[in-house]
Amino acid sequence: PKYQSVALIIGVTGIVGNSLAEILPLSDTPGGPWKVYGVARRPQPQWNSDHPIEYIQCDVSDPDETLTKLGCLQDVTHLFYVTWANQATESENCEINGKMFQNVLDAVIPDSPSLQHICLQTGKKHYWGPFELYGKASHDTPYHEDLPRLDVPNFYYTLEDILFESVGRKEGLTWSIHRPGLIFGFSPYSLMNLIGALCVYATICKHEGVPLKFPGTKEAWESYHDCSDADLIAEQHIWAAVEPHAKNEAFNISNGDVFKWKHLWKVLAEQFEVENGGFDEGGERVSLVEMMKDKGGVWDEIVREKGLVSTKLEEVAAWWFADGMLGIEGVLDTMNKSKEHGFFGFRNSKSSLVSWIEKMKGYKIVP
Ligand code: NAD
Repeated sequence: PKYQSVALIIGVTGIVGNSLAEILPLSDTPGGPWKVYGVARRPQPQWNSDHPIEYIQCDVSDPDETLTKLGCLQDVTHLFYVTWANQATESENCEINGKMFQNVLDAVIPDSPSLQHICLQTGKKHYWGPFELYGKASHDTPYHEDLPRLDVPNFYYTLEDILFESVGRKEGLTWSIHRPGLIFGFSPYSLMNLIGALCVYATICKHEGVPLKFPGTKEAWESYHDCSDADLIAEQHIWAAVEPHAKNEAFNISNGDVFKWKHLWKVLAEQFEVENGGFDEGGERVSLVEMMKDKGGVWDEIVREKGLVSTKLEEVAAWWFADGMLGIEGVLDTMNKSKEHGFFGFRNSKSSLVSWIEKMKGYKIVP
C-alpha cells in the first residue's frame, strides 16, 4: 500500500511509545495511512507485538549502531521522540540524553529526504525543575508554556537546544514539543509508570491480606492534582504532526480535569478488591521503596500462582517514582495554549485510571 506518512518512534515500548504504536496504524488516525517503525533497546516484548509496526532493536546511546540501523530508513516523514535515560545527577542526564537525541537526529536528518516534522516529548519538570531539586527551583502554578527557563540544569533544555539547532539543518523541517505531567499509561518497561507501581502494590496488599494504605503525604492526599493519559499525549503528538497551526510550538498536555488521591484511592482499592486503608493521619510515613525492598519473592510467587506474564518486581514497578509522586502537593498546568491552537482532546482522569488498570489485567501483568 502507499502510505501518506511514515513514523519513526524512538522508545516504542515506553509509556507513550506503546500508545503511539497502537494508535498510529489505525485506519482513522489523522495523517494516515501511517507506516510505523518503532525503536527500543530490548527485543520486542509480547505485550507490544500486537501492533502492526516494524520493530527495530537499537541502542540509541551508541552512535554507530544508531547510524547503521536508522540511517537506512529513507522514507521517514515524522519522528516521535519518546525516550530518556535516568542517571544519578541532572548534569549526567543532560549529557546522556543529549547524546541519545543527537545520535538519532544525526542518523535520520541527512538520510531521510521526506522528513517533515519532529515531535519531542519532555515534561512538566520544564517548569518544576529536575528531580534532584524536587520543586526547590520552581515556577508558580498553573504552569503555562510562556514561562522562562529556570536557572538550573535540566535535560529538557538540552534536548530543546539540540532540536532547535538540528531543524535548521533541513529546509522546511518543523517541530513540536510536548510537556506532559504525571502519565497514566501502560508499559511494564517504563522507567516511570505510576499505574504499574500502584497495581503491583495493591496486588501485594491483597495477597498479604492487609488494607491498601496510602503510602504518601497529607499534602499529596488532599491537594488537587492533574495527570496526562498516555493515549491523549499520543493524540496530541499526532495532531501536532499533521496540523499546520501546531508547528514550531511547545504545548502542555494534561487531561483537562483535576483529582484528589483520596478519591482515586478508593477506585484503586475497588479495582483490586482490597480494603481501602486510606491515609493514616497519626502514622509515620513508610516509603514504598522501604516497604517493597524484600517483596521480590512474594511477587514471584504471585506471578506463578496467578499465571501472570513473567516480570521482576523491580522492573514492573518504579517505587522511587511512586514515592516521589505520592509525596508532593499537586502542581497544575494549563491547557489553554493547546486549546487556542485547536487541540481539544481531554480525558476523565478517573476513567483513565480504570482503563489502564484494566489493560494491566488484560495483558496479565497483574491478576
Ligand atoms: P519510558 O521510560 O516509558 O520509555 C522509554 C522507552 O525508550 C522504552 O521503550 C525504552 O526501551 C526505550 N529506551 C530507553 N533507552 C533506550 C536506548 N538507549 N535506545 C533505544 N531505546 C531506549 O519513557 P517516558 O516516560 O515516555 O519518557 C519520555 C519523556 O517523557 C522523558 O523526557 C520523561 O522525562 C517524560 N515524562 C515522563 C512522565 C512519566 O510519568 N512517565 C511524565 C512526564 C514526562
